Amino acid sequence: MKPDIVLLASGLTKQFGGFTAVGGVDLQVRRGSIHALIGPNGAGKTTCFNLLTKFLIPTSGTILFNGKDITRDNASEIARKGLVRSFQISAVFPKLTVQNNVRIALQRKGGDSFDFWRSSSVLRKLDGQVEQLLEAVGLSSFRHILAGELSYGRKRALEIATTLALDPEMMLLDEPMAGMGREDVERIASLIRRVSAGRTILMVEHNLSVVSSLCDRITVLARGKVLAEGDYATVSGNPLVVEAYIGT
Ligand code: ADP
Repeated sequence: MKPDIVLLASGLTKQFGGFTAVGGVDLQVRRGSIHALIGPNGAGKTTCFNLLTKFLIPTSGTILFNGKDITRDNASEIARKGLVRSFQISAVFPKLTVQNNVRIALQRKGGDSFDFWRSSSVLRKLDGQVEQLLEAVGLSSFRHILAGELSYGRKRALEIATTLALDPEMMLLDEPMAGMGREDVERIASLIRRVSAGRTILMVEHNLSVVSSLCDRITVLARGKVLAEGDYATVSGNPLVVEAYIGT
């Protein structure tokens, strides 16, 4: 495995009963890139993403992260190795303030989440990091607001902050722009760009204009297989890709 490839899936396959949702997908994610997984509905994006993030066990195939086999690891094990799925490990607690959500995430990185409730000195030690993270995602002025009262876009920014609290080497984002208005899409796109410094990001995303402006590398899936791979200009100019999108 080349050292510049951080995540490598080979022959990744998932069958549900007799149906092959993902059939022999090879995926190489370069270190430091923002990589998108796109494709028409039913292409196998979600299944593939769930395999990579350990929500599903593959029927066959292997997944290497930094050259190590993680095919049989669970979600917590890969998180400890630096591969974190946003909106999963980093759930947002709606009845807690924005800053307490970030504090809990930082405590989790330390490995003992619920000490948080007992020790106010532990809490204060985290305040500098909490502030940095809130600033990074543009939520400093919302720190005392209950997370459940944030707008949808800001909630997703908070989810990104709680993921960043784990300081992952690689972040896996499941449709980070889903259900957002234009303003929030732009805010989250620029946030992802900022937080991608020094990290690798893999995302499933439907919004192709976001993908074209944000992602260095794109893998197009159709019917459970890789149809094309490359930068946006290359894949969007591929007649097979055009046909797959129009055909749905
Ligand atoms: P996408 O995210 O690209 O829309 P999915 O990965 O959700 O595609 O689905 C790919 C195919 O696998 C679809 O035909 C879907 O119906 C099927 N599929 C997904 N999950 C299951 C499941 N749990 N059981 C049976 N079929 C499934």
